[in-house]
Amino acid sequence: MSQYIVGLTGGIGCGKTTVTNLFSDLGVQHVDADVIARDVVKPGTACLAAIAEQFGPSMLLADGSLNRPALRQHIFTDATAKTWLEQLLHPAIRQQLLTYLAACSSDYVLLVAPLLLENNLQLYCHRVLVIDLPEALQLSRTLARDQVSEQQVAAIMAAQLSREDRLAQADDVIVNDSTLEQLLPQVQLLHKRYLQLAAAAKNMTSDNS
Ligand code: ATP
Repeated sequence: MSQYIVGLTGGIGCGKTTVTNLFSDLGVQHVDADVIARDVVKPGTACLAAIAEQFGPSMLLADGSLNRPALRQHIFTDATAKTWLEQLLHPAIRQQLLTYLAACSSDYVLLVAPLLLENNLQLYCHRVLVIDLPEALQLSRTLARDQVSEQQVAAIMAAQLSREDRLAQADDVIVNDSTLEQLLPQVQLLHKRYLQLAAAAKNMTSDNS
């Protein structure tokens, strides 16, 4: 079980996946909060059944999976429904996160979450690593990657923490405003540091036991 958890976050299109892959190449495992958020509403889950019971069968597609656009529309127009959904999903997601984190065995583990700080998941982390870049570049890289409009990306960015607020909560920052080649040395440097911190934390735990 990995004892040391680094929360990795950043806004849409900032390079979380790209940076996570570089850490993976160094043998560091990660848990992805977005994947878990999808897992907890898969067909057959208690959460999906509860959503269908609460909001009606229109929340399910013909194959029994979640009708995401219908759910999004429903909670967009009904604040009580949104609160109900959050109270259902957040504990389920947290529980699953902790289970997955506990199953990791690398010297430290990354908890990758776009909304790490918005959802207070930093409470489970020893450090917060923010991937940072200017908003204009964030927008252009997202537009180059996804089939979305500038307005859609701007709306997502507006719903996330501002760059300034995110940076204010960072212990470490990877600046991703240049080439992909310039990311690797930053990752290598942090990897070394995290190995040291994880080892020190482990020693402290064994001293106290
Ligand atoms: P999201 O939160 O939207 O899933 P993300 O934070 O995981 O995004 P990535 O998918 O890693 O971001 O990166 C966004 C896009 O920018 C990708 O197409 C990626 O290949 C590209 N990209 C990331 N870093 C760089 C870089 N340094 N130079 C050029 N392109 C980059």
